[in-house]
Amino acid sequence: SSFSDYTLSEEIVRALESLGYTKPTEVQSKVIPIALTKRDIAVKSQTGSGKTAAFGIPLCEMVDWEENKPQVLILTPTRELAAQVKEDITNIGRYKRIKATAIYGKEPFIKQKTELKQKSHFVVGTPGRVLDHIERGSFDLERLEYLVIDEADEMLRMGFIDQVESIIKALPKERMTMLFSATLPKDVENLCHRYMNNPLDIEI
Ligand code: AMP
Repeated sequence: SSFSDYTLSEEIVRALESLGYTKPTEVQSKVIPIALTKRDIAVKSQTGSGKTAAFGIPLCEMVDWEENKPQVLILTPTRELAAQVKEDITNIGRYKRIKATAIYGKEPFIKQKTELKQKSHFVVGTPGRVLDHIERGSFDLERLEYLVIDEADEMLRMGFIDQVESIIKALPKERMTMLFSATLPKDVENLCHRYMNNPLDIEI
């Protein structure tokens, strides 16, 4: 398959060209067309499979540039992954002038609060700090439409289940959710059943 099989705008196609992505990886070819229909998806796949672009491409395509409040929340288990995902989203969304903000622990709260006040389409962060910003009123969830739970098994293994559930409960009910996990233990399955709407299961 080819990226031209999907209805992607010229800005996104041009960004993929400049990144040297000539054709979709397996996870991308399975996820992108479904994600563009806004159906919930639960994906079992390893890191290194191109999973970041599998959610990054359709989300960059779907976000409304004009909207000033955050539309996408991506939860990651670590700060390193949050920073990487922010960079990947910024690259994919470059020609659409997509803004992504990363918020994670051990960085000044106040600086992140200021960033969250500015226009940002994507917020990428670790569960503890994201919940902090939600509870302290610095993360406006009113226009949040898309949730990505990245490396779900790792996130739960690190003990973030309560924070993840509290975050999900604070989000608008009308949303699209994508979950990515290398393995599907019972607690990840439970998360899918509880907080996703008839998700399509994709296994790579
Ligand atoms: P990930 O699984 O998201 O960590 O991606 C693994 C690596 O594959 C990253 O360095 C990406 O930049 C790269 N990558 C993702 N999609 C493609 C693609 N379609 N063609 C070539 N490289 C890609």
